Amino acid sequence: MTNKTLNYVMSSVIPKRCFACGDLLDSERRGYALCSECQNEWNEQKHTPCSVCGRQVMMCRCMSNDMRSGLISYSASCIEFDSEISKKLIYSFKRKRSYRLADFFAMQIAESIFLKNGIHFENCIIVYPRRSYEGRARFGFDHARLLAVRVGKITGIKVCHIFGNKGMSAQKELDLRSRLVNAFASFYIKNKEECVESVKGKDVILIDDVVTTGCTALCLASLLHNAGANSTSLFTIGKVPSKKTKNIR
Ligand SMILES: [Zn+2]
Ligand SMILES: [Zn+2]
Repeated sequence: MTNKTLNYVMSSVIPKRCFACGDLLDSERRGYALCSECQNEWNEQKHTPCSVCGRQVMMCRCMSNDMRSGLISYSASCIEFDSEISKKLIYSFKRKRSYRLADFFAMQIAESIFLKNGIHFENCIIVYPRRSYEGRARFGFDHARLLAVRVGKITGIKVCHIFGNKGMSAQKELDLRSRLVNAFASFYIKNKEECVESVKGKDVILIDDVVTTGCTALCLASLLHNAGANSTSLFTIGKVPSKKTKNIR
């Protein structure tokens, strides 16, 4: 038996659990990330109005002032990153490689891409902030890459692996200015010539797990702009509610 066959047999025998509550999934939900109750809760949270503008999270366009600089022309998130379920799912996604959870999140992001009006798929490329070397060594994989590749498969948009990440210091507990300086010290374009070739004139779809202040996105959008991108749109799974990011200032 080959490894692939063995993996397949094992995966169809080993019981699957819901990533949110840990309950065993029944046979018809085996391929899903969540049990039906947790799926309902997720859906409900997606429809919770934004505390600032009152729109559904997916339709909310509240951004920090810095993100209105024009470098990021559009941004959409699936859920507010403050509920128990959103935190639990996103944290486990970052810590343990799971294709089932990656597929779940990729479907959510693909949905928000399809909801964007006037998108020209043939002129789009997908990029993502590469996980730092330290993060990859610690967790054994790059969750951002995993997500981007799967969104690329669903939407048919080409994924370009253009960013490197020196992983300067953690973003937590820094003020906005330091976060931005830190992002510029961390992210770089791996191969400039190749990058310009794939980015020039393109509408770039930037995919990330969570947007907090938007500093990482702003830094990447500025690198993309300098490489000749036509526009950058940001799509994330979660966003820290606007009322909370205001306090970071
Ligand atoms: Zn559940
Ligand atoms: Zn809003």
